[in-house]
Amino acid sequence: MQLIWLRSDLRIDDNSALSVACERGPTVALWLASPGQWQAHDDAACKVDFWLRNLRQLRQALEQLNIPLLVRKIDTWDQAPATLLDVCRRHNIEAVHWNDEYGINEERRDAATRKLLQDAGVRAHSYLDQLFFRPGTIVTRNGDYFQVFSQFKKVCLEHLHRSLPTLAPRVKRQQPLDIASDPIPEHIDGFDKPAVALSDYWPAGEDQAQARLARFIDETVEDYAHLRDLPAKPGTSQLSAYLAAGVISPRQCLHAALASNRGELDSGSSGVQTWINELLWREFYKHILTGYPQVSRHRAFRPQTEALPWRDAPDDFKAWQEGRTGFPIIDAAMRQLLHTGWMHNRLRMIVAMFLSKNLLIDWRLGERHFMRHLIDGDLAANNGGWQWSASTGTDAVPYFRIFNPVSQSQRFDPEGRFIRYWLPELRGLDEKSIHQPVKSADLFANNSYHSPIVDLGSSRQRALEAFKGLPRRQDQRAAS
Ligand SMILES: Cc1cc2nc3c(=O)[nH]c(=O)nc-3n(C[C@H](O)[C@H](O)[C@H](O)COP(=O)(O)OP(=O)(O)OC[C@H]3O[C@@H](n4cnc5c(N)ncnc54)[C@H](O)[C@@H]3O)c2cc1C
Repeated sequence: MQLIWLRSDLRIDDNSALSVACERGPTVALWLASPGQWQAHDDAACKVDFWLRNLRQLRQALEQLNIPLLVRKIDTWDQAPATLLDVCRRHNIEAVHWNDEYGINEERRDAATRKLLQDAGVRAHSYLDQLFFRPGTIVTRNGDYFQVFSQFKKVCLEHLHRSLPTLAPRVKRQQPLDIASDPIPEHIDGFDKPAVALSDYWPAGEDQAQARLARFIDETVEDYAHLRDLPAKPGTSQLSAYLAAGVISPRQCLHAALASNRGELDSGSSGVQTWINELLWREFYKHILTGYPQVSRHRAFRPQTEALPWRDAPDDFKAWQEGRTGFPIIDAAMRQLLHTGWMHNRLRMIVAMFLSKNLLIDWRLGERHFMRHLIDGDLAANNGGWQWSASTGTDAVPYFRIFNPVSQSQRFDPEGRFIRYWLPELRGLDEKSIHQPVKSADLFANNSYHSPIVDLGSSRQRALEAFKGLPRRQDQRAAS
């Protein structure tokens, strides 16, 4: 008997480990609930709920194939190896299959599990599934991990031109086993159920993810290069939550994009090329996580930036978290996050830069707040995005390029449609003043909107001086 250990790969189609397990023989599936670990990782309650909802769909789909789904509850991943071994003994498992996950704790858990299983005579097999390329295979001539996205991307495209990652063979229905599936918990203590409105934004299941992908490719990808920066338009795929939970695979996304572009990777539709570029950013940050593990330990990628004089400003931080900064685009974005568990990419950059530059608050606090609220929260992408915005990371934005939230708002939400949706108190303002309500407006008199918590000019200057005062660059490898 084979065991597939499901983690962030909650799907049947194009699931590398599941596909091999089923080819080898009768298969049972296992999923571990590990709330203590999730708390330690700041996983959002809406993300945990999304996993559970997807598992319910997956359980049904697995039952159609006669694959029972077992569920075990542990607290932290320290207990994973023994739990797996116990399941193997009870069900006479010969081999366990799983898809690789990246991050220090994930890799430690898997190494410990592999050892315990092998010592007990159970084989353990792991597979590349979340990524196109195994970390460590896209490297510089010296064999180092890339630190610059454009160079990384160039090598990825060369590899993709030579051969595309193939989809895993479809899983066939097996003979029924005398093992019953476990029920999927409705809810896990410590993770509140999100509001129905939030769950409705993110319906569960592979079919839903595939329908989203098909709709995006049919209706939007052609204009993606232009639309992707406009938060008032549904111009991006909104697949990140599905990719993070593995309800859809990046290979499926790549193949669908290529099929709509006559198989062309870096020619043809500019929308398709730009979207593939984003899939490669996702890839890049996961390679960074493996190649430079200090970023998993809350450390800056550029060690000299550890000396930045971050402000201890809890009131400003709270105003940012709650969408009360007095800058409409920031406040609207932060409310989008709290209400939907998602934020548009352009806005993630604007609010992250505002926190780390204008408020000069440590990016790690923002990173954590995002993780605690994002349904697509992903250590690699979130850390990468925060360190990019704070100019502490790989390929980061130069420290002197500080987005002005008002001009970003004028440029990317020119009519104020996004702002009006999330800040109904500003609905009556015209297109000019909605980006920066004037002090004399009734709004402030009635206390229905907030005064800006910071002066953009002087706070920008403060950030520039903080960065200028940093010690000179140290060698990255010496610090890793
Ligand atoms: C401060 C900050 C924090 C972020 N945190 C996360 C996070 O926790 N999880 C997450 O998935 N993305 C994160 N991103 C990246 C990006 O904002 C989201 O992936 C994107 O907004 C998801 O929307 P979409 O699915 O419509 O993306 P699309 O534009 O349709 O892109 C397709 C897919 O490519 C990937 N992708 C796109 N942009 C990026 C990027 N810059 N970095 C890495 N992958 C990317 C995502 O998987 C996305 O679903 C963050 C960006 C910033 C600036």
